[in-house]
Amino acid sequence: MIGLDGATFSLLSPLSRQGHLPFLTGLIKSGTIAQLMSTRNPLTPPAWTSMTTGVSPEAHGIYDFLRPAFLEDGGVFLKINDRRDNHAETVFSIANRGGKRATVLNFFGFYPAPELDGHVASGFVPWKHLRGGIHPPALFDRLRASEDFDYRDLGMDIGEEKKVVQGLEADEHEEWIELQNVRDKAWTDVMCRLLEEDPTDLAAIVLDGPDKIQHLFWRYLDPECHAGEPGEQTEKITRLVTEFYARMDDNIRRMVEAAGPGTNVLITSDHGFGPTTEIVYINQWLADRGYLHWREDGAGDGRAQLAADKLKDHQAMIDWKRTVAFCPTPSSNAIFIKPDPGDGSGISPDRYMEFALKLREELLAWTDDQGEKVLAGLDMNKMRGRAFIEPCPDITLKLRDGGFVSIISSDAVVKPRALADGTHRPEGIFIGAGPAFRQDEQVDPLNLLDIAPLMLTLLGLPVPKNLEGRVPQEALVPGITATKAGQARSAASQPAEERPEPSAEEREVLLRQMKKLGYMD
Ligand SMILES: [Zn+2]
Repeated sequence: MIGLDGATFSLLSPLSRQGHLPFLTGLIKSGTIAQLMSTRNPLTPPAWTSMTTGVSPEAHGIYDFLRPAFLEDGGVFLKINDRRDNHAETVFSIANRGGKRATVLNFFGFYPAPELDGHVASGFVPWKHLRGGIHPPALFDRLRASEDFDYRDLGMDIGEEKKVVQGLEADEHEEWIELQNVRDKAWTDVMCRLLEEDPTDLAAIVLDGPDKIQHLFWRYLDPECHAGEPGEQTEKITRLVTEFYARMDDNIRRMVEAAGPGTNVLITSDHGFGPTTEIVYINQWLADRGYLHWREDGAGDGRAQLAADKLKDHQAMIDWKRTVAFCPTPSSNAIFIKPDPGDGSGISPDRYMEFALKLREELLAWTDDQGEKVLAGLDMNKMRGRAFIEPCPDITLKLRDGGFVSIISSDAVVKPRALADGTHRPEGIFIGAGPAFRQDEQVDPLNLLDIAPLMLTLLGLPVPKNLEGRVPQEALVPGITATKAGQARSAASQPAEERPEPSAEEREVLLRQMKKLGYMD
């Protein structure tokens, strides 16, 4: 399985028609394609985790990059999610238990590396911490000794040392595109090497370049968007991002060829992409209604654009004693209702239902100056009649332009963006090619929860009954059918291990990345 973070047919189809994706075009013709619907909040951590566990975020517990921790004094602290916060068993572990080896490269949430039979190298890890995200340990030493690439290129913070980042300035654009090329190629090199030297039954990789390119350069790729001042620089960026996709196509070709003929190949994405044209200041909206209070001592003046190094303190902008509802991160697109720590400063369980429903009503009635609804919809996650792992967001918002919210204060709750940026959409991609798949077929949208059952079926293994998706039989040639696992369930995770919190440095790196990608407007 080759995961292309954020890939969407709305971009790949025109690039394919223009001849920039020769290999992928051939793969599509020889296989079955479908849209792949993402998680409720179509975001990288919950989406890849759902794809690789076969269960919803409520069952695996990864809703975002970060999660709020509610302190006894009524304050809120943000913690970084990692593998130990994933409560569900991965398809790679299930495959191991079925006697199949697995290779897992560059997925979110595999740090610290699980001791799988095969090869693991986690994504989203600063290069200084890569060793802890790699299993077996000898693999780290092999990667570090590689002559094909600098192993530090596999880290999330590639290129960070070279510059002080305060958002991405125009003259950094070319460098940013090249960093994505370098890193996607480095991960491709690792996969090709492992496929040749020690192939496993199942091999899966994420190339995260498409997501990073599309966040910053969507307007150069989407003819519906205005790219900016026409001229040499705009033309150059357009050419460089188009070249990025041609290189991505070549990365895919190299991996599929290294896997050898007769291999079943899945190309997937965790979510799609589209333009975002406005900024919605959700915490300001909550503040205007008295549910959230900014600190008045100036420590939390969010009216200025926050510098990257101040982001870690953004919770300090909020007066927690007087706040009952808040959005912790832009990427969450969520409102959390603050539980009462015992001093009456939050919402106690007996008041929860009434408060949550009132908030829901006000959110749904929210209109802009033209009287148009600001939200396309919302989900009340704790009122859906199913179990959920905490800290589960109480409300997940769907903005009308598909974008992510802003969490800082503002003099208006909705503002247009000067130029469109890229943001996530629920419609990802699925391409299945190889002996198991129908040729030249398009089927109705699949859900990313269907991918784990499909992978297990292709491995000839039974599908545990708690997996929520189904095997997409309509994409497969006759004769390949799911094996029922009877009462077997995927293994429950261990109780949370005692663990050191990520270092301040790790937090910094993650927050800077989120800032660059526009998650911190
Ligand atoms: Zn993603």
